[in-house]
Amino acid sequence: MAPTHVLRCCQRGLAWIPVIFIALVVCWSYYAYVVQLCLITITSTGEKIIYLVVFHLSFIMFVWSYWKTIFTRPANPSKEFCLPKTEKEQYEKEQRPETQQEILRRVASTLPLYTRTGAGAIRYCDRCQVIKPDRCHHCSACDMCVLKMDHHCPWVNNCVGFSNYKFFILFLTYSLIYCLFIAASVLQYFIKFWTTYLTESQAKFHVLFLFFVAAMFCISILSLFTYHLWLVGKNRSTIEAFRAPVFRNGPDKNGFSLGFSKNIAQVFGDQKKYWLLPVFTSQGDGFSFPTRLVTIDPEQHTECLQPMGLDKTAVDGCVEQPDPPSESQNHLLANDYHSEEDHKETEVLKSDESEAVTISIDSES
Ligand SMILES: [Zn+2]
Ligand SMILES: [Zn+2]
Repeated sequence: MAPTHVLRCCQRGLAWIPVIFIALVVCWSYYAYVVQLCLITITSTGEKIIYLVVFHLSFIMFVWSYWKTIFTRPANPSKEFCLPKTEKEQYEKEQRPETQQEILRRVASTLPLYTRTGAGAIRYCDRCQVIKPDRCHHCSACDMCVLKMDHHCPWVNNCVGFSNYKFFILFLTYSLIYCLFIAASVLQYFIKFWTTYLTESQAKFHVLFLFFVAAMFCISILSLFTYHLWLVGKNRSTIEAFRAPVFRNGPDKNGFSLGFSKNIAQVFGDQKKYWLLPVFTSQGDGFSFPTRLVTIDPEQHTECLQPMGLDKTAVDGCVEQPDPPSESQNHLLANDYHSEEDHKETEVLKSDESEAVTISIDSES
């Protein structure tokens, strides 16, 4: 086996350590709560039953959503976003970035693309050799372009994006409920064990630790959970919160925002009965997204909601055309995109103290 292969295998193996750590903590919490607290410590049968039922409900939902977040593969751009054979050969032979952009623009004219690089160029991933759909980014950890990429999460060893963003939110929700329920129900026994020298049993050790661990996880998950709820309400990914997507009119951090309830439906779907279940109900295909298209007129400021691919004439004046920009609008291209050609930077985004995420973002500014 080549050394690079061995290195990659080692990296892949090491990447599972945070997941295994969480799994071990969850297994221990199950044993500590069910056996040590409910079966050994609690004497009242009624209390035992209520605690066990609620605990198992939150445990099942938590494990289910965690599982789905980990094992749902990130969605990638479809074949339509790859350059056709002749264009690809032309692109590879071509040295001049202007002509390469010309090829990309020709291919992109048939695709539902609204966003550009900061310099107005078509977003192209040299690594995956694919035109990036709107909201798609290349993840260096997964080594692939991920649709509506949010961030790469080490705690699930997976990219959080279009295919599993709902599962990720539910994972945060149920882990918070799981920890809150444990902390709340353990509290009275925690105080009892702490204040009285009732027993020096094993149960005391488990119950004390259970409270500390649950409270600690609660605090760290809470900030991440509220941040992501805010992002869902704004229809923004973590990457877009750090760097606004660039449309034909320029960067617009609210470019994909359709209003609070529609933003929620984008992630959770429009059938409320599925909102709390980790089954895929997100709207759209991950390649194109409805945009809030803004025409700024000095006399009147009009805002239109326009899903992709609708007849342009129907909402004349409000449609951002996915066609290539005209040369006059595009004079920046010829001068500016040299500097960002092939230039990638890795940013470490800290969502909160509990989760450091590494995202490779193409430099588009
Ligand atoms: Zn890529
Ligand atoms: Zn990733």
